[in-house]
Amino acid sequence: MISITENNECCGCGACNNICPSGCIDMVPDDEGFLYPDVDFEKCIDCGLCEKVCLYKQFGDDDKKKPDCYAMKAMDNELRENSSSGGVFSLISYDILQSGGFVYGVSMDENNKSCSFLKVGKCEALNPLRGSKYLQANAGEVYKMVKSDLDNGNKVLFSGVPCQIIALKLFLGKEYDNLYCVEVICHGVPSPLLWKKYIEYIERKNKTSVSAVNFRNKNGGWKNFSLKIDGVGFTQSKNISNDPYLVMFLRNYSLRPSCYNCKAKIGDSSADLTIADFWGIEKILPDMDDNRGVSLVMINTEKGRCVFENIKALTLFAQVPYDFAVSNNTAYLRSCSMPKERQEFFKDLNSMDFEMFSKKYSRVSAYKKIKRWLSTVKKQLGL
Ligand SMILES: Cc1cc2nc3c(=O)[nH]c(=O)nc-3n(C[C@H](O)[C@H](O)[C@H](O)COP(=O)(O)OP(=O)(O)OC[C@H]3O[C@@H](n4cnc5c(N)ncnc54)[C@H](O)[C@@H]3O)c2cc1C
Repeated sequence: MISITENNECCGCGACNNICPSGCIDMVPDDEGFLYPDVDFEKCIDCGLCEKVCLYKQFGDDDKKKPDCYAMKAMDNELRENSSSGGVFSLISYDILQSGGFVYGVSMDENNKSCSFLKVGKCEALNPLRGSKYLQANAGEVYKMVKSDLDNGNKVLFSGVPCQIIALKLFLGKEYDNLYCVEVICHGVPSPLLWKKYIEYIERKNKTSVSAVNFRNKNGGWKNFSLKIDGVGFTQSKNISNDPYLVMFLRNYSLRPSCYNCKAKIGDSSADLTIADFWGIEKILPDMDDNRGVSLVMINTEKGRCVFENIKALTLFAQVPYDFAVSNNTAYLRSCSMPKERQEFFKDLNSMDFEMFSKKYSRVSAYKKIKRWLSTVKKQLGL
């Protein structure tokens, strides 16, 4: 039976819970809000399946293949505006949906306080899956649902962070010709508890509930994206340097312990395609960069190549060297480091008033403020 002794050795993918034949594993949140397996030993039949599907019980190899890499953006500007990067995920999804398949991806839950996997069967229903949600998604029973669709002969596109793709593959235990997987490069997944407390704080402050959330609002440009939160009678939009939630995410305080020790970055990708933001595009293809979003696309398999061929006419694209692409997106190869304040951060999350907590962990020093102001002035003067 699965036993987690160190919390940085469980990524919360939920594959053990999906595979357990006796239903003795529940996914239960810890005091940081991350889900971990909780085994009912009385019901356990010791079949060992939970360990077989656990990414953290497998061994990898460090030598990655170097996939072909492309800069790509959808020609449909509205679609791109509503996507985090260049809108490639939607084009891949349309390709699968138009051939009669299903798409699984992550959507915000109804109250906007959590997110989980959703199955979509029509292009018109794709909107909730569009855009990054920067908190860990609850996998629920998604792997079982995907398997059932695959066994019924349906074409399926499964999208998620790399550990979820590996979890699905380990859960399935065999290759399916009708399965397509697309992963996003992942910086790490923030705590669902932190997100819930943030939304509850905003609701208290505005005395109304939150009705919509966009983690990648591009009003100030793709590179200076903001977190936009709407409710009845209010809109809050703060960018990467002044939204407390985004600041805490990008300072690596709020990530799951296993993200600082990510096993999904070891060895070759399990996905057919890897997609991400093409950071650094202005240095290599300045004409392609309009600050509205460009995707990095990596082709890992022949299936991935077929999908790429199907969608490329709907995009502007150019091949780029692997080393350049990866040097501007280190999250592809390396886990981020754990800040020394992380333990105190979660202790404070559970004990402090949220306003004081968020001020403590998202404060920007006077030195940084001056540096930022100088860089804005320089840009305005064209220096
Ligand atoms: C937690 C997280 C961390 C990321 N870190 C990086 C990074 O370090 N560098 C980088 O270049 N890109 C990162 N990305 C990916 C990036 O934000 C875009 O999602 C990606 O470039 C695809 O953009 P798009 O325009 O093609 O499509 P979009 O429509 O923006 O793509 C949405 C896709 O993201 C998936 N998704 C959304 N939220 C989640 C979630 N919580 N868990 C799992 N899957 C989710 C959806 O299922 C869908 O496949 C991250 C995404 C997430 C969710």
